[in-house]
Amino acid sequence: MAPTLAERYQAVKAGLRPGVTLVAVSKTRTMDEIRALYELGQRDFGENYPQELREKAPQLPDDIRWHFIGHLQRSNVKHVVPVAHLIHGVDSLRLAEEIDKRAATAGRVLDILLQVHIAQEETKHGLSPAELRDAIGNWPWAGWAHLRPRGLMGMASNTEDRDQVRREFEGLKQLFDTVAAANTHPPGPFDTLSMGMSGDAELAQAAGSTLVRIGTALFGPR
Ligand SMILES: *Cc1c(COP(=O)(O)O)cnc(C)c1O
Repeated sequence: MAPTLAERYQAVKAGLRPGVTLVAVSKTRTMDEIRALYELGQRDFGENYPQELREKAPQLPDDIRWHFIGHLQRSNVKHVVPVAHLIHGVDSLRLAEEIDKRAATAGRVLDILLQVHIAQEETKHGLSPAELRDAIGNWPWAGWAHLRPRGLMGMASNTEDRDQVRREFEGLKQLFDTVAAANTHPPGPFDTLSMGMSGDAELAQAAGSTLVRIGTALFGPR
């Protein structure tokens, strides 16, 4: 018999190291599926598409913390900012600028993560390590009163090569530690390292992830 949602949820939670946040990735999932997981106690959910987030959020309990984990275009920032708890995929100055502007309009201070490109594939978004250093050192953070960089996000290569995935996660963890220690970012906690999905959450946590984004292992194949 296929495991129930409750059984899959228990199994995923059993694989979490202490202090690691579980974001349930609910893109393409129905309201009923999301509600069922909410009823089991889950509060952090992740969505990839602005339109889908906009439709779903108002119909669901307002103590859900919505994580925007997709690639965000500037034209969609205004739709995401009012509902998002954390925006994971910030990878350009102009995007950060737009988020600050829209957060100001919404009367909020919004937490963001900078996305770093760690995978071999060309398709994944994100800053190179050099661009990350530039972002931390040179983006006009002091002028952005409605934005708080809280950490980094990355996606490993989609490969069977576990050593490669491990190396990519360890590389991101090193960057994270360097930035956090250098204290060049604006004052405030730099404490979130978003890495790990259904297929590689264990490797990500072993490398020091503080937040995993898990869809398939909870809800089944999309
Ligand atoms: C879809 C998605 C996930 C979840 O992937 P699963 O393999 O279903 O766990 C995590 N992170 C991002 C950025 C995603 O787009």
